[in-house]
Amino acid sequence: MANILVTGGAGFVGSHLVARYLDMGHRVFCVDNFLTGSRENLTEYEDDSNLEVIEHDVTTPFDAPETVAVVIHLASPASPIDYLRYPIETLGAGSLGTLNALNLARSRGARFVLTSTSEVYGDPDVHPQPETYWGNVNPIGPRSVYDEAKRFSEALTTAFRLHRDTNTGIVRLFNCFGPKMRGNDGRAVPTFIMQALRGEPVTVAGDGSQTRSLCYVDDIVEGIVRFTESDHSGPLNLGNPDEVSVLELAKEIIRFTGAKSSVDFVERPQDDPERRLPDIALAKSQLEWEPKVTRAEGLARTINWFEAHR
Ligand code: NAD
Repeated sequence: MANILVTGGAGFVGSHLVARYLDMGHRVFCVDNFLTGSRENLTEYEDDSNLEVIEHDVTTPFDAPETVAVVIHLASPASPIDYLRYPIETLGAGSLGTLNALNLARSRGARFVLTSTSEVYGDPDVHPQPETYWGNVNPIGPRSVYDEAKRFSEALTTAFRLHRDTNTGIVRLFNCFGPKMRGNDGRAVPTFIMQALRGEPVTVAGDGSQTRSLCYVDDIVEGIVRFTESDHSGPLNLGNPDEVSVLELAKEIIRFTGAKSSVDFVERPQDDPERRLPDIALAKSQLEWEPKVTRAEGLARTINWFEAHR
């Protein structure tokens, strides 16, 4: 049993990760200010004495037990709606938040893992995206508050590895989905599911030919856990290379929910990436990891959860 500290543990991915470590028998410290997450995501575990939830904004320094073995830094708004609503907070979480989390890990001799994002590749002109691709990011575009915060986080994490003798690693998560996403967070899967369940038109941006590659959250969590247990520095991509157009995804969700919804085409946001496709060769060779849950199975589980919780 080890002490694991997860920043952003009350969010979508974080709450699944916290649950996984508790199920493995570890003691988990979840540091979160509930900006875009909530205590409700952890209600199944509120009586578990191995979970301590600490309400705190990671942009100011924070403390933890002496014996923390691992710090996993997820705290950051992550959906476009959230980071456009909280631009300064997003830059703060990626800069000061990452610095504070790194300093804590260093002071405890803990392994530090940053959950970065495929957004560091921007609107890529290389497909699929390997870790060696440097990206195509607009540094002053609307998405830059998120993309550049994560790129800065990666640079800071690397600097601690090289110059502060800290055991650090970077995973780059591609789009992931599953239960506990917020229905109004603006991401395609929950938006389409909620629209379909309400019988409203499903709104597709542009002509819907842009693609996404969607990974079920259990697979992402498995990848983060394996990466954390390794000594790998990364960056290492975690995602599902099963690519689908946004229009096809909308049609699948309408079919799987049994809805009668039509598809409405709406304006495409600025700098919306054209293609997202992870190259996961490194994760396969280093972690023997690859996604197991098909998109159809993952969507079925997610739709069931939204039906029960909306
Ligand atoms: P989320 O918004 O559901 O979770 C983020 C959590 O961080 C929330 O609980 C929020 O309250 C907390 N938080 C934000 N700012 C904070 C601060 N200053 N101090 C303390 N807590 C703070 O988002 P998510 O989808 O679960 O994403 C989690 C992490 O994974 C993020 O770092 C994100 O960049 C990364 N990621 C997610 C995806 C995805 O598809 N979900 C893809 C790529 C990367």
